[in-house]
Amino acid sequence: MFDSRANASALLHSVFGFNAYRPGQEEIVDAVLAGENVLAVMPTGSGKSLCYQLPAIARPGLTLVVSPLIALMRDQVRALTAAGVAAGSLNSSNEPAENSRVMSLLRRRELRLLYVAPERLARPDTVEMLAESDVSMMAIDEAHCVSQWGHDFRPEYLSLGNVARQIGGRLQTLAFTATADAPTRNDIVDKLFAAPPRVFVRSFDRPNLRLAFKPKERSSRQVLSFVRSHEAESGIVYCASRRKVEELAEALKAAGVNALPYHAGLDKAVRDSNQDAFQQQDGVVMTATVAFGMGIDKPDVRFVCHADLPANVEAYYQEIGRAGRDGLAADTLTLYSLGDMQLRRLQIEQSESPDERKRIERQRLGALLSLAEAPRCRRQTLLAYFGEASQLCGNCDLCQEGVERFDGTIDAQKAMSAIVRTGERFGMEHLVALLLGERTENILKFNHDRLPTFGVGSGRKAGEWRSIFRQLSATGLIAQDLMEHGRWWVTDEGWKVLKGQAKIELRKDMATGAAAKGSRRD
Ligand code: ADP
Ligand code: ZN
Repeated sequence: MFDSRANASALLHSVFGFNAYRPGQEEIVDAVLAGENVLAVMPTGSGKSLCYQLPAIARPGLTLVVSPLIALMRDQVRALTAAGVAAGSLNSSNEPAENSRVMSLLRRRELRLLYVAPERLARPDTVEMLAESDVSMMAIDEAHCVSQWGHDFRPEYLSLGNVARQIGGRLQTLAFTATADAPTRNDIVDKLFAAPPRVFVRSFDRPNLRLAFKPKERSSRQVLSFVRSHEAESGIVYCASRRKVEELAEALKAAGVNALPYHAGLDKAVRDSNQDAFQQQDGVVMTATVAFGMGIDKPDVRFVCHADLPANVEAYYQEIGRAGRDGLAADTLTLYSLGDMQLRRLQIEQSESPDERKRIERQRLGALLSLAEAPRCRRQTLLAYFGEASQLCGNCDLCQEGVERFDGTIDAQKAMSAIVRTGERFGMEHLVALLLGERTENILKFNHDRLPTFGVGSGRKAGEWRSIFRQLSATGLIAQDLMEHGRWWVTDEGWKVLKGQAKIELRKDMATGAAAKGSRRD
């Protein structure tokens, strides 16, 4: 054990050329060298690949690396080969010469890392061949692809647990992902591991990213002024539709910005050349749909702007995370409107997903809306969603500029007593109906029209109450149970306010205010 550790840190210098481990890497490398099965949840850019590459080289045997990203595979194989490591890949876009190089290394048992696309592992001939070689470990990258709760489900991932058993009985298994929320994490453990693995979770904080949200007023002007405040810097502007991508690219170009469009409807040649320009030149601004993303490896993206509300909190985090990979300051701005919120809700309701999936999507969207309407520190709100406690960050619009607030203690007490009086068993729409005094089918069914809370909130509109629930959630006074039908419950902090021992301030511009204004235009 000691030897392999010393050996590992020598390899860190000699093969990878790094002076030291990044936070979190060493403990994972140690666990892997000790033979443990590992699930590592780490933000993008934190250095996941080293956590399997290094042990793969430090120990005998072949490591299979499963990755859905062919471009990334190719880059890693190239980098490893250049560093003198026998690495190769099996995928549909390989040249025959490359395939035969890999096969002969494999037969001679000299290959140390083999990158395989999950589709390839679904083929019985591949599995048979691997069962006869000296595979000692399987590292699964982008492991959230196994989960239907994740944002990028790939059915081929579901058979990986099986493949591991066929190849090596109790093959040591490592799974890596940057997707952190609890349902996805639990699902990964269920689907990929026979017994619970060691789980490592790195902080999701990216302190160098400035966070800001603004209600849309005139969105193209707002985008333009944000982009102009970053003259000659590389950045991404995400839009919800292809049409808007093209319109914004034109508007930015007309204003003298070096902007290019990217969406799945463009010819592949155009997409590739725009992506290359973005990757290689300084100061290119890509206006794009979310099709632009996975696999971009540009460390000095200085800003990410969302011209429309992202799909959910996970998507938001992944998308802003493409800025500032080099650790230097980077800026983000997300524009949102009531119309965006409604559109995102509609997209969930109209999707073909099973009900349980829709439920989780609704909650993820809710978490993003809470973030948009957070009455205080955005980063604290975002990290709380990932289960991390933190201080006020000083690097978000709310910490720096604040927002107009009022004493919302009474409103909060009404909302929380609606939760408590109904036994902490109901979701938002039922609670809002109760506050408004609506005799819906469910209100009558549960006799909730007889509760003292029935109708106490009739002085506010439904949209305001929804905003109040989201703000109370953002400040941690109430929480939603992700596993149990999205029921709300009151936290210890919430009870203090409910009992009158603490006060809470809410935002003045609740859904009716500036956010609603935006919906006229967008
Ligand atoms: P992830 O898969 O977590 O997004 P990568 O494994 O691609 O991240 O690593 C991100 C970048 O960090 C890469 O450019 C990699 O070379 C670099 N890196 C990884 N580990 C270290 C380290 N210990 N010291 C310096 N740079 C590192
Ligand atoms: Zn803050």
